[in-house]
Amino acid sequence: MAAEGIPIYDNHVHLRPDGRGMEALKEFQAAGGTGITLVNLPYPQIPVDGLNDILDSYRLTMAQAMQARELPGLEVNVAIGPYPVLLMTLEERHGLESAEAIMTAAVDCALDFVRDGEAQAIGEVGRPHFPVPEPIWQASNRILFHAMCGAAEIACPVIIHSESAVPEVMAEFASMADKAGLDRGRVVKHFSGPLNRPELCHGVLPSMPASRKALREALDNGGPFLLETDYIDDPQRPGAVMSINSVPKRVKAALSNGEMDERTAWSIGEDIPRRLYRP
Ligand SMILES: [Zn+2]
Repeated sequence: MAAEGIPIYDNHVHLRPDGRGMEALKEFQAAGGTGITLVNLPYPQIPVDGLNDILDSYRLTMAQAMQARELPGLEVNVAIGPYPVLLMTLEERHGLESAEAIMTAAVDCALDFVRDGEAQAIGEVGRPHFPVPEPIWQASNRILFHAMCGAAEIACPVIIHSESAVPEVMAEFASMADKAGLDRGRVVKHFSGPLNRPELCHGVLPSMPASRKALREALDNGGPFLLETDYIDDPQRPGAVMSINSVPKRVKAALSNGEMDERTAWSIGEDIPRRLYRP
């Protein structure tokens, strides 16, 4: 089956000012990609010492998005928020209490960008993906909960960066969302495995690296999911994560060998992202 006209969405892309930037997105489009979520990340050009630096990094992401939206036919949604590991950087400089206050303020500023229609999601927020001291863990959870409460007010998605998703972790995020009054379907677990069955994801939306094995399992499971690369656009490590054309390549291959039907392709390429980012 041809993939002609099929929408193909990468739900987690980072760009760097010293990286390939728009060239990478052109390669994505040439491979058949039609939409991305551009996700803010600390940039080496903007060392983070306080709230203003985080805001500068948001503005850089917004500038990248403006450029990307000039590429004809590319749908660009933007996620901004304080990267979870920044809490530790800030803690070293300011102590944990001030670090948490800065992170919380950074969440509030990100929510303002979404409220103004400049960004479409809060992310990536959450907690470090490696073991950290208990006070850091607790503070991270408070910051995430704060993000979910704010997101609930404006019905916006929250993209979570955390340790590996297992069903128990998904259940924890689901109950956190319930307490915050945020629809579980607006909680996106970045770098998830194929947990797209209700008893595995508990209503949280898995966003999965586009590996062949994970995709096959996700298609068997049948529940909603999204695909991503987590492309980092690092000039020093060009092949460090998946290349920018991975999602289009994987979707086209799955369509042509019959593993994926066209309805599913439309669902993960257009319907789910649209419902998520443009409710
Ligand atoms: Zn990322």
